[in-house]
Amino acid sequence: SDTDEPSKDEEQPPPLAGANVMNVILVAAECAPFSKTGGLGDVAGALPKALARRGHRVMVVVPRYAEYEEAKDVGVRKRYKVAGQDMEVMYFHAYIDGVDFVFIDSPVFRHLSSNIYGGHRLDILKRMVLFCKAAVEVPWYVPCGGVCYGDGNLAFIANDWHTALLPVYLKAYYRDHGLMKYTRSVLVIHNIAHQGRGPVDDFSYVDLPGHYLDSFKLYDPVGGEHFNIFAAGLKAADRVLTVSHGYSWEFRGIVNGIDTKEWNPKFDLHLHSDDYTNYSLETLQIGKPQCKAALQKELGLPVRPDVPLIGFIGRLDHQKGVDLIAEAVPWMMSQDVQLVMLGTGRPDLEEVLRQMEHQYRDKARGWVGFSVKTAHRITAGADILLMPSRFEPCGLNQLYAMNYGTIPVVHAVGGLRDTVQQFDPYSETGLGWTFDSAEAGKLIHALGNCLLTYREYKESWEGLQRRGMTQDLSWDNAAEKYEEVLVAAKYQW
Ligand code: ADP
Repeated sequence: SDTDEPSKDEEQPPPLAGANVMNVILVAAECAPFSKTGGLGDVAGALPKALARRGHRVMVVVPRYAEYEEAKDVGVRKRYKVAGQDMEVMYFHAYIDGVDFVFIDSPVFRHLSSNIYGGHRLDILKRMVLFCKAAVEVPWYVPCGGVCYGDGNLAFIANDWHTALLPVYLKAYYRDHGLMKYTRSVLVIHNIAHQGRGPVDDFSYVDLPGHYLDSFKLYDPVGGEHFNIFAAGLKAADRVLTVSHGYSWEFRGIVNGIDTKEWNPKFDLHLHSDDYTNYSLETLQIGKPQCKAALQKELGLPVRPDVPLIGFIGRLDHQKGVDLIAEAVPWMMSQDVQLVMLGTGRPDLEEVLRQMEHQYRDKARGWVGFSVKTAHRITAGADILLMPSRFEPCGLNQLYAMNYGTIPVVHAVGGLRDTVQQFDPYSETGLGWTFDSAEAGKLIHALGNCLLTYREYKESWEGLQRRGMTQDLSWDNAAEKYEEVLVAAKYQW
């Protein structure tokens, strides 16, 4: 009931932010646990809590794709024009872990849960226009327990192309007119492979003054001149960030953290069952083998403690290098190993998973589906996690793996290169195995060395696990760096 809820004062830890207490509004197309298709959802779920722990007032604004039990209608209705059409939005609110969550409701968002980015290009564009128009005004229209986010020192954090219009609207509708001078925006690049491209005519949908057209125009040798939402957002934002150093060229990179409640073998709710168990560094030698046996049993694989169990979790597409794994499967299956792959995506790659399971029933499982529970259990039960991504802005699964004592084997790109140092048997340092080009042969070579260490050098293996598990992978470090950027952006103008 309402009366049982702790007041904001009771929940707030001592503020670390000091004189720089800000109002921060993170705006994203997805946010775990409400909506998630990948890493962006995890970041939107965890970074705000870490900023709130530092003493800031923090809000997350996200579309309402489904009915979320915790979130209540605040009773406010607003209308926005999108491509000449009048659209009404409602706002739902929940206060969780020190963060205000605001869900923007409209028929165009409803029932999209499993298909957030689905539909025709122009429908997606219209959804994002409506969302960004409404999100930029949330600070005034949505009362959050007496706190008005719009009353000063406000920073928006927009994420990827879906919300790249927000910095543009902030500028065009307000700042250009001398309004909201105390407000700045930061645009975070999680994945620049999707940019909101279209023909130049798309400009008529975004509802901006004509002189903004140029900021949307981009030229490339393949597509010629085109309309590009990400480009306009990058120009309008006060600061631009990427999610790792390796993925940034001229921008600042801040490596993502992990939610240490959600992805922690000690507390993981998905390990609460008769067969699985929670574990920590102290109980690793008992707990992890138990999780491995539970996973083998659940998957219907032979329950053998000594056989290396290799996992993969992720979107099945070119980016994630699933085809490299597929190419390496015959070699892997010639070894005494077990392999489990969990993912959804390109139909031909889903077929690869099914085929593999069919062909190697006693050794391999290809689980086509999106299952958070299974992702957690693989992370806990596997010995090795493969991430042969062709490019990887940050990557979260390798961080989760290391926190669970599961050793990553990765292609050394982007965030993977930044976070997984190659094991060195002479100095007994490093966190996993890396290979330097996206080729199956290289993957096999790295995995071969990893398997050798697993089988022959128990102490080295335990050292790898221990180093992985004792890293500080929490969001607290990263949140402090975000804070610096948000503060610095304030003085830019
Ligand atoms: P990306 O954002 O590029 O998809 P990340 O590694 O940053 O990659 O984040 C992926 C997130 O999505 C992780 O939390 C991962 O566990 C989750 N995930 C990906 N595929 C699945 C799946 N099929 N089932 C459950 N979770 C998945």
